[in-house]
Amino acid sequence: LYDTAAIQKLDTAHYMHPFTDHQALGEKGARVMVRGEGIYLWDSEGNKILDGMSGLWCVNVGYGRKSISDAVYRQMETLPFYNSFFNTTNVPAVLLANKLSAISPPQFNHVYFTGSGSEANDTNLRMVRRYWDVLGFKERHTIISRHNSYHGSTVAGASLGGMTDMHAQGGLPIPGIVHIGQPNYLESGRGMTEAEFGIEAASWLEQKILEVGAEKVAAFIGEPVQGAGGVIIPPATYWPEIQRICDKYGILLIADEVICGFGRLGRWFASEMFGIRPDLITFAKGVTSGYIPLGGVLVGDRVADVLIKQGGEFNHGFTYSGHPVACAAALENIRILEEEKLIERVADDTGPYLKQRFAELADHPLVGYADSCGFVAGLNLVRTKADNPHDNVAFDSALGVGMVCRGHMFGNGMIMRAVGDRMIIAPPLVMTREQIDEMITLIRRCLDLTHADIKQ
Ligand code: PLP
Repeated sequence: LYDTAAIQKLDTAHYMHPFTDHQALGEKGARVMVRGEGIYLWDSEGNKILDGMSGLWCVNVGYGRKSISDAVYRQMETLPFYNSFFNTTNVPAVLLANKLSAISPPQFNHVYFTGSGSEANDTNLRMVRRYWDVLGFKERHTIISRHNSYHGSTVAGASLGGMTDMHAQGGLPIPGIVHIGQPNYLESGRGMTEAEFGIEAASWLEQKILEVGAEKVAAFIGEPVQGAGGVIIPPATYWPEIQRICDKYGILLIADEVICGFGRLGRWFASEMFGIRPDLITFAKGVTSGYIPLGGVLVGDRVADVLIKQGGEFNHGFTYSGHPVACAAALENIRILEEEKLIERVADDTGPYLKQRFAELADHPLVGYADSCGFVAGLNLVRTKADNPHDNVAFDSALGVGMVCRGHMFGNGMIMRAVGDRMIIAPPLVMTREQIDEMITLIRRCLDLTHADIKQ
């Protein structure tokens, strides 16, 4: 059906891919995906692939939902575009803002729409600075974030993010953004219980606030569970302590739920399960299950009251803010999540089942640590395992064992991402117990293949 070689040739000739080393991709060419249904993809050669990553953590309701494409088509025919600048609005954006206010924690009654998660985090930066400006604290502009976090690829998004390889390209972060350590128990929690480490990692925020000067700190931003950094699940003590510190110094709290929102962890928003009351929540991805680009910021009453009642015009906005077609897709996507009780299923049934099955992989000789939360999970590939995971011996990173494993997964019909030697998944929320079994079998087979490679 498809002439793969011809598509690859055109791809190489003209298409600069995001996050891709084109020289390394070389002659082999990219794999061409052509179709999706449920949790599966098909490539141009007819191979079926289990998508363990929901695309990029986003296809929560699975591929091939005709009711979403119908909703998009209907809206395209009725009103394909109109903006909300200059005192106009459109019906899907209004309905979606209302729906998001209803399903989000009680302090959220306003929504600011963007085209992506990166733009939403840029919006956060401008919003929190504007908030303090309006209140007369013009010095209060510093935002504290964390190492190894991911908040997008725009200049502000990449600066808020803590990925040093991104900072190195283009002189980031921009001024006024500083970073603290991540709550990674395996990396930094030696000699402590998880609970003790959670408090310790949160105390780094207070140290940074005192170093910068509380009167200069506008906000703290974090992903409830770090995604692109490798599915770093914080100890239960971490977020409540972060909240306490933010409250103590009056600092705004931004939860970046671009990955965690819309059911991925078994709640509409992960903030609800981590004991925090953020002032702003970043969302994107799962809001439309990736069918159409859409992102935004849930604006809590504390910020909304100041910006709306006292701030006058906020000089900020995107052509595609509140795009009617994207909002129509989101409304249908949310309807599906509700009707099929997908979030409840992840919370009470498939999430716990995935946890149990994924944890079993820890008996594999290559797996030093495996953990999950809702429908995100990760395991560490290690050279030598010890009873205490802090004593595991890692592989020399130059061996690229994670990439070897990823290659086997890809070759054997499953997408699993490698972050160094940590292998991660974030499957579509529609995945059934039987499909979890199928996925675990595939992962085990590829761990065996990777193990065989390493021993050679
Ligand atoms: N924030 C988080 C936590 C993300 O994972 C991502 C994307 O992966 C973003 C922000 C950026 O979103 P986008 O790629 O839609 O700009």
